[in-house]
Amino acid sequence: MAQEREITTTITATTTVKLPAAAPKSYAELNPRLKPTEFFGPVGGFVLTFVTPIVAYGLFYGCNEVTGCSVPPTRNFLQWIGDWPSSAGALWEWKAAGVYLAWYMWTVLCWNILPGEWIEGTLLRDGTRKKYKMNGNGLWTLILTLGITAGVIAQPGGIAALAWLNDHFVPLVSASIAMCTFQAMFVYVYSFFSGELLAYQGNSGNFFYDFWMGRPLNPTFPGFPTFDIKTFNEVRPGIIGWVMLNIGFACAQYERLGRVTNSMWLVVLFQGWYSIDCLLVESSILQQMDITTDGFGFMLSFGDLTWVPFSYTVQARYLVFAPNDLSLVACGLIVALEVLGQYIFRVANNEKSEFRSGRNPKNLKFMETKRGTKLLTSGWWGLSRHPNYFGDWIMAWAWCLPTGFSTPIPYFYVIYFAILLAHRQMRDDEACKEKYGKDWETYCKKVPYKIIPYVY
Ligand code: NDP
Repeated sequence: MAQEREITTTITATTTVKLPAAAPKSYAELNPRLKPTEFFGPVGGFVLTFVTPIVAYGLFYGCNEVTGCSVPPTRNFLQWIGDWPSSAGALWEWKAAGVYLAWYMWTVLCWNILPGEWIEGTLLRDGTRKKYKMNGNGLWTLILTLGITAGVIAQPGGIAALAWLNDHFVPLVSASIAMCTFQAMFVYVYSFFSGELLAYQGNSGNFFYDFWMGRPLNPTFPGFPTFDIKTFNEVRPGIIGWVMLNIGFACAQYERLGRVTNSMWLVVLFQGWYSIDCLLVESSILQQMDITTDGFGFMLSFGDLTWVPFSYTVQARYLVFAPNDLSLVACGLIVALEVLGQYIFRVANNEKSEFRSGRNPKNLKFMETKRGTKLLTSGWWGLSRHPNYFGDWIMAWAWCLPTGFSTPIPYFYVIYFAILLAHRQMRDDEACKEKYGKDWETYCKKVPYKIIPYVY
């Protein structure tokens, strides 16, 4: 009986429905119009589309060599704003736009020519699965890029060439915003003609909401059906660009001081390792809600291309003009914090991914559920419902502490990330309530803490 086989599909982070797999569905049935419910609806989508780029620029204007990095600004407000243009250089530079485009195309070329495994994604609600070029491909892109970068640094003028990234930061931000807007607009328009699967929460019919949330679920460029724009954006130009910008800041510091401070080394190495770790287990993103549920629109396009590389680098950028020499004890404590965070993050993620792939080498306790999937109730997943978020957040502190305590602005990441993780935990908790029903309530009684064991 065809109707007995069902696909469980997540409509939003909070709504899960079951569709009969075998019954062929029309485009309209597969892509129902839904009311906008996330991010405060169309008004939220409209506001966020404009506010998020302003925040990305604001982080620069609020913290740079010329205008200072204090909260509130120490100088006369109008004078402070008057200094903005001289602090950033031009808002738009064709050369920076060309460099950014070349960078994007370089990562596309690497995706195309470097080896990688083709991994199947989750079952889609039309009964198909997409394949993604992953495991190995991202890491090879990073290795090749770092090899070329090392070669450039070894040449006369090589350090200055990379320090150029620091001096043209704002035009590079503008170029990335132009690129992410182009992508988001292109996939939005193309989704009306392609007949592709849409994200439930990107098909409300309201332009501002759908443009922000993302209308197509797995967009591709016409003629390139294997190039998945969303997963490519999530783990290539932005994540590797983040590493490159940090190297550029270290070079800029070297140009000025004739050395790289230990605080800069810590930031560059910690964040570099985070990117490597992400690329080592690249295919794990296929299970995350960004890939399974969210559409590709301005939210993800901006997040991947602008927000991650240009705002997560605030600590290294700050250390260029406010170098900080840490004592050996401070270095040791910060390294210990990073190792602790990385340990919890990696061990927790490994415990779950091993368990989800059918292995349980640590013999961890678990509970059965009516849904069929089991839930871990011991090990790190017995201490809180998102121990991996806890480890991630500890690492966030280790990335900010090297900047010292003269200004709170480089600590923006710790605060922003706490909000992001708390919001993500709520979205996931709602989704799990839908998926597991009463079993989730039982699980929550067994594991009462949401993120931080014994605290929250
Ligand atoms: P999780 O890795 O925590 O996955 C949540 C899912 O795991 C649930 O929906 C459920 O899915 C399953 N699960 C929940 N509890 C259990 C349990 N006890 N036993 C087994 N499975 C369970 O969340 P994310 O996908 O949000 O995050 C992945 C990683 O990415 C995290 O380490 C996070 O820190 C990181 N991250 C980093 C960001 C950054 O900007 N740096 C941004 C966002 C995330 P099911 O039961 O259906 O399998």
